[in-house]
Order: sequence, then structure tokens, then C-alpha cells
Amino acid sequence: MTLAERARRVIPGGVNSGQRSIPGLTDLVIARTEGSRFWDTTGREFTDYHAAFGPPLLGHNDPDVAAAVSAARASIGLTGVAVTEGEVTLAEQLVELVPSMEKVLLTSTGSEATFHALRLARAATGRRLVVKFQGCYHGWHDSVSLNVISAPERVGRPDPTSAGILPEVLAATLVLRFNDVAAVRQAFADHGPDIAAVILEPVPHNVGALLPTDAFLRALREECTKAGSVLVFDEVITGFRHALGGYQSLAGVTPDLTTLGKAIANGAPVGAIGGRADLMDLFSSRPGGPVFFAGTYNGHPDVVAAALATVRKLREEPVHEHVFRLGDRVRAGLAELYRTLDVPAVVTGYGSVFVSYFMSGPQPRSYDDLLANDTALFVGYRRRLVDQGVFELPLNLKRSHLSYAHTDADVDRLLEATETAVRHTLAE
Ligand code: PMP
Repeated sequence: MTLAERARRVIPGGVNSGQRSIPGLTDLVIARTEGSRFWDTTGREFTDYHAAFGPPLLGHNDPDVAAAVSAARASIGLTGVAVTEGEVTLAEQLVELVPSMEKVLLTSTGSEATFHALRLARAATGRRLVVKFQGCYHGWHDSVSLNVISAPERVGRPDPTSAGILPEVLAATLVLRFNDVAAVRQAFADHGPDIAAVILEPVPHNVGALLPTDAFLRALREECTKAGSVLVFDEVITGFRHALGGYQSLAGVTPDLTTLGKAIANGAPVGAIGGRADLMDLFSSRPGGPVFFAGTYNGHPDVVAAALATVRKLREEPVHEHVFRLGDRVRAGLAELYRTLDVPAVVTGYGSVFVSYFMSGPQPRSYDDLLANDTALFVGYRRRLVDQGVFELPLNLKRSHLSYAHTDADVDRLLEATETAVRHTLAE
């Protein structure tokens, strides 16, 4: 029996996340990662642009991060009775770097961070409603488990991503179109005094890349301030990847709360929630704080050491310069390729993140625009890329990532492999 078959006998579907259940790849078993590569148990090598949905900005198994984690493990291990020096230093750095963060708490995942952000917002405002946007993903918990990647007929209607969620919980989340200023103004006109929070990915990368307009981010800030609602930027993907201060530092719009995860620890299991001190001080980590906050592994020494080593490297080495330059090369190369092949495509992304939508027309601004994407071509060419040892996730609308470990030679190979993959898919 193969490992994958053994896995399916004892693990539902054979994988430990629904996001790893990938049609056509059910026999893939990972053996090792390093830099821009991973290998499976049959010895096949893949150049990895999926990057586990985004954490390894420095590359897989970065040696400096690995050394810091080993040192922490050797000296601290897990205590869980009080704070450690690393947690203090990391919190100081996050507060210094991220404009909205006056205080910050660590969690073990991004989902926990967004969960706590929304509970905190509801507690602080005494209100019920949360506003989210079609296409944004904020983790697996109930308040946000709706309207991520919806079938066309479900757009504009409640579309739960899971069974088992109470209808009244779903009804307490309003779903709007991303970049739709008029819809935001209308929602506040209709429900302002009942809106506890507005949560968004400032760049919705869970459907590839929808770039926000300045007017949209400014309108959210304005309406939340006017109505006394809490504005939450979920920067689990964009935090550190696009800038050490998060996308908010580039956009010049400061939310009340920010969630981080993924790239801030280059692959160690992390999340963070930070923001206005008056809100953060409501958490029960402060004696008498009414909003319960706990977690056995919050601030785990391995994770904190990984995050500190990641921050250090991002500050000291030209990581962003490198990944942004490669990102521009990839986007320009792909756009040129599709022009040559006469394939309608919009190549977009930001910095190290790229995606090709197979549709004509201008830059997509909301999820509805992406319904025009040719799903068969999107998934088909990526399956053929995987066959060539170039790993972009073969699922509709998924983004791809570059890391500090990717090289110009990797980009050359990616462009060549994409040409072959697209030609073959079109010829089918
Ligand atoms: N927010 C965003 C924007 C994400 O992309 C993700 C994970 N893909 C999460 C939250 C949840 O993070 P985690 O998977 O670590 O719980």
C-alpha cells in the first residue's frame, strides 16, 4: 500500500487541511523542502510557487530561521507560565513596524487572530453585525465562513463554506462587493449603529489578487470612524510579504485592528492580533479584561524565534527588493507570453504575488469580475505545470508566490514551462 493510500485509511481524505485536497494530486506525499524547492517521496523535485499558501517569504527551511528555532528549543522549550524575552522583543518590533499596532498579542494561527478580532469588536461596541467582502478569506471560524469562492449563482446571497453553522451566525455577517464604495456607504446608512466591525484583506489574495482602490480603503476608514465601527485589516497574507509594516503602511490607511500570520514567522505556526491600545486592553491577558483570550501555544519560543529571525533578515537583507523585482519579471514575462499566444489574459498581483486570469478586460476589482475567468484553462495549464515540476496550485483563482530563494533562472524556467503548459492545454 502506498503512503497516500495509508493516509486515506486513517486521515479523512488523506490530508490535514481541506485546502490540501487537490483533484489530480491525491497521491502526492511530501518528503522534504529547501529554498524554492520541495521533493516528494518518489524523489520528484518541484520548484514551488504555491509556498504553502504563503508563509516562506525567505524560502523553505531558511537556514537562519532554522538556526534560531534550534537555539530557542535548546535553551527554552515550552514554559507557558510567564512571558519570555523574545515575546517582548517581537511585540516591540511589531508595534514599531505596523502603523495600527499600539499593542499586540500572539496566536498560533491566522484564524485565531481574526476570530479574536471580531469577538473583540463585538465586545467593544456591543453590536452584532460584521461586514465582510465576497472573495475574502479570514479563516475557518463561523462568522467569516461564507462567500469566499462562490459559484456564480451564490454571489450576492449567503453562501456558507461549511455545514453546521447556525443560521443566526451567518445572518450576522453582511457580505458586500470589494471596491464598491456605494455599497459600503449604503450598508452604513442602513445598518451603521449595528455594525461592530468591517473586516477585509486589503488585497484579497484568496482569489488571486484584487487591488484595492484608494477611494475604497478611505471610504471604509471614514465610515467606520463615523459609525464607531472597528476596521480590521486581515494582513495574514500581506503582512511582511508586501512590506514590513503591512499593506496599510503602503496604502496610508490605518485600521483599528490588524491580524498577521504566515510570512511573519516564515513557516512556523503563527498569528497575531494588534491595534488600538484601548481595544487590545479589553483582552483578558490584562487582569479584569472582559474578552477572554488564551492559548497553550501562544508565543511559543520556536515561533517567536522564527519570527525574530525573519524580521531581522527582512530588515538586513534586500528581500523585498529581490522578490518585487522577480515579481515584476514574472508578470511582464507572462503578459508578453499570452500576447504572443493570443490568449486573452489579465496578469496581476503585487510584489511577490502573481496570478494570471484568463479573461479579457481591465484589472478586476471585485469577485464578480473574476467569474469571467476561464477556469478550465486556469486549472488545466497548472496541472501541466505540475507535470513539468513547476508547482502552482491547480485550483481555480489561487495565487502564486515568489521567495528570496527563487532565482532569475527559476523565473526563466517558469516562463518556459508556462508556455508549454498553456500551448498544450489550448491544443486539447
Ligand atoms: N486570513 C487570511 C487572509 C488568510 O489567507 C488565511 C489563511 N489562508 C487566514 C486568515 C487563516 O490563517 P490560518 O490558516 O493560519 O488559520
